[in-house]
Amino acid sequence: MMNALNRDQPWHRLVAARPGLAWHAMDGLCLDDVPLARIAAETGTPSWVYSAATITGRLAALRGAFAAENLTPALRYAVKANDHLAILGLVGAAGAGADVTSLGEFARAEAAGIGPAAMVFSGVGKRPDELRATLAAGIGQINVESAEELGMIAEVATSLGVAAPVCLRINPDIAAGGHDKISTGRASDKFGIPLDDANALYRRAAATPGLAPVGLSTHIGSQIFDPSLFEAAYARILGLIDTLRAEGIAVDRFDLGGGFGIPYDDGIAFPLHAHAAMVRRIVGNRHLDLIVEPGRWLVGPAGLLLARVILIKQAATERFAVLDAGMNDLLRPALYGARHGIVPVAAADAAAASHRVEVVGPVCESSDRFGSYDLPALAPGALVAILDAGAYGTTMSNTYNARPFAAQVLIAGGTPHLIRRRQAVAELWRDEIVPPAPG
Ligand SMILES: *Cc1c(COP(=O)(O)O)cnc(C)c1O
Repeated sequence: MMNALNRDQPWHRLVAARPGLAWHAMDGLCLDDVPLARIAAETGTPSWVYSAATITGRLAALRGAFAAENLTPALRYAVKANDHLAILGLVGAAGAGADVTSLGEFARAEAAGIGPAAMVFSGVGKRPDELRATLAAGIGQINVESAEELGMIAEVATSLGVAAPVCLRINPDIAAGGHDKISTGRASDKFGIPLDDANALYRRAAATPGLAPVGLSTHIGSQIFDPSLFEAAYARILGLIDTLRAEGIAVDRFDLGGGFGIPYDDGIAFPLHAHAAMVRRIVGNRHLDLIVEPGRWLVGPAGLLLARVILIKQAATERFAVLDAGMNDLLRPALYGARHGIVPVAAADAAAASHRVEVVGPVCESSDRFGSYDLPALAPGALVAILDAGAYGTTMSNTYNARPFAAQVLIAGGTPHLIRRRQAVAELWRDEIVPPAPG
């Protein structure tokens, strides 16, 4: 079906490396055998398209990698990666809990059927009302980011007559993360408690009414591929656990955080089995309840952003393909300089020769640019899929330039389900209040 000469085009490599995707001779690019052109015809563009099978498959693979090392960590999915109720429901039904960073995320996870006992509350700035509501509901764990916050939690818990199950989030001072803006475990980052302060703080927590310290946690950043970076962080925290235990202080849990990377363009996958083996090796025979908080790794590869070429603009030095999806839909390229694979949808386009083109969105900002790509010569109206957009896609979308939120479709059991209708333009100002004219 494909011209043999063209099988080496970058879009062929990208699709070959992603099991749910394939071109069919008549239908063009399909996700889980559903033609993307059909979804575009039914829901319009831009639209987000997710594969339920990919999410459940990756959850099983994650569990399997740890199980092969005789480890059964509790999974706490990082809701901020993708907070759609249907996706939270899938993750919850597979037995995972949630890592939430606000009362809004807590409420979303609860609405999707995840119980508070299976939730971890993370973040540097939890408001007193958020602490009160989550503690009253029986949240399973609060990861504390500072001595100041520990005091706030004790106060709220005491007033409720409960003991807050707290983990101290340790900042191990490790530089990791695929980009400066997604590194969280350096001493200069705003996250976590310095290792040197942690022992005294944990002891203080153990002696404070209203606090029930249950363990230690860390999260050193996102889009990390090298298990040795995790290992360096984990080793420091395990050292602290050993010291506390030797001093007669109980430490039951070790929350390993998230941060596993995914290859956005051509690139190698996160070495999941080597990572699990590393965790096994350094945890050794200590008795610890482990927790893992995957976000990006679980849902990123499960989603794509389906867009249409509005026009091709030939400028003096460059050729631009202007899409109907922009930085308001997918912010990552503008925010982090992130690069997503982009592939044509039509079978005829997939078989064509490649040309260099600057792929941009329609938003009135120069940073609304996906990057330089080798793509077939796309005509106005051609469809493209922006790959690996399942994480930090919709959750970072906004309505800049009065561009409504795009539709979302979940393919489950071979059927595409509309899971969010496209926002209507009039909904953009639904909550605005115009005061009466003066006089
Ligand atoms: C964002 C976040 C995660 C998930 O990070 P990924 O890189 O998406 O896996 C996990 N834990 C905490 C505390 C986070 O802030």
